[in-house]
Amino acid sequence: MRLIMKFGGASIADGEKIKWVAELINRYREHELIVVTSALKDVTDHLLERADAAADAGSIESVHELIKHLRDLHNNAAGIAINDPVILDQVLNELDGRIHRLNQALTGICYLGELTSRSRDYISSYGELLAAPILSGALRSIGMSSVHLTGGEAGIVTNSRYGDAKPLEDTRERICQRLTPLIGKCVPVVAGFIAENEHGITTTLGRGGSDFSASLIGSAVHADEIWFWKKVSGIMTADPKIVPDARTIPQISYIEVMELSYFGAEVLHPRAIEPAIRNDIPVRVLNTFDPDFTGTLVVRDQQQGGVVVKAVTVIEDIALINISGAGMVGTIGVAARAFGALADAGVNITMISQGSSEANISIVVEESNLACAVDAIRAEFRNGMIRELTADADVSAITVVGAGMAGIPGVAASVFTAMGENNVNVIMISQGSSEHNISFVVGSKDAKRAVRALHSKFGLGGRDRR
Ligand code: ASP
Ligand code: MG
Repeated sequence: MRLIMKFGGASIADGEKIKWVAELINRYREHELIVVTSALKDVTDHLLERADAAADAGSIESVHELIKHLRDLHNNAAGIAINDPVILDQVLNELDGRIHRLNQALTGICYLGELTSRSRDYISSYGELLAAPILSGALRSIGMSSVHLTGGEAGIVTNSRYGDAKPLEDTRERICQRLTPLIGKCVPVVAGFIAENEHGITTTLGRGGSDFSASLIGSAVHADEIWFWKKVSGIMTADPKIVPDARTIPQISYIEVMELSYFGAEVLHPRAIEPAIRNDIPVRVLNTFDPDFTGTLVVRDQQQGGVVVKAVTVIEDIALINISGAGMVGTIGVAARAFGALADAGVNITMISQGSSEANISIVVEESNLACAVDAIRAEFRNGMIRELTADADVSAITVVGAGMAGIPGVAASVFTAMGENNVNVIMISQGSSEHNISFVVGSKDAKRAVRALHSKFGLGGRDRR
């Protein structure tokens, strides 16, 4: 099999973990492997924080501190993960050169007092640039042949939208040209998240972008599967902190992953796996620290006759705005004006509902946008068409997700019966006509109870099969 294996920051947080990851990769040595790595845990955050601070406060001491921290962190990790002294020496030399260049860049930013989006990308690329040589060295020290590559060296070429760069048309071809000669001969370890524009300037694919790197590479080299090794056991039926008997979902469709991530479960960003899904490459979410567990398989289409409800999620930091007034009844364009005003104010709308009396519209927004949203709507309807505008931040949104719900009668009945039985008052309801989710708003105090009730109503709990 041709496999892409992507490791997140928590999976390679330190030397012991990197050593473990190398052994894990070694278990699959009979396959054609490409590894994509993130930065060591929290490194990207540190780089960005300190780069901002360097530009704002010009504090060279803080740059020195960061450099020392990164040098210690990566040198220690290499020392533990790599047994062979010759290989360790090579890797330490390489790290030294990279850290030196990072130091120069940060020092420059300090003196200039300016951080452009281009230099932010350059600085933040160092998390992955320092991780890849260590993991590749760890593989070589246990007898696998391996090379490490930057995103650009692996053929990922993007536009120049720093911080959120998008691959150019011919990227897949270039990736294929660069990586195909290596596949099967050694294990290429590609630094995720980072790429280059056509002029060879470093770009990044957006925060969390190394998942995207892995699916892009997987689709370019026609991988059989893409495996995302994370610190969690796949995608779960609910947040285990709320529902103790939440289970891993063995198989889920791409559409359901999209619904889940809109509604708060962020194990895998749908945008990150889009290239894989478009090319129909199965994606697995596995647990680095429980590698024999089968995790979650994400496929393009949903299983026929599969489970109706897959998961229940909750978002707590939302707020509900309700606008009403007799002047709205039968008046064309009220909704458009309300939504337009919110869009102009940069407010994202999470849910909408309007009853057929047309006397009110309910809109759910993120709690942090509430004040701005209310001001925008008030300003838009100064003329009095809206009689009343109420806002409530003390609410949460519950979502029941499952592509199998489409066309199956009685799911909504079960959902709301469960709410009635558990004395949960439902404030607003919304279901898209795709019928892949039912979402509704409840008071914050009822949210956890609602999630637990639904999880048990649909029989989602139980022990994972191992
Ligand atoms: N290191 C990058 C970040 O923290 C990319 C990634 O981990 O996927 O955003
Ligand atoms: Mg809230």
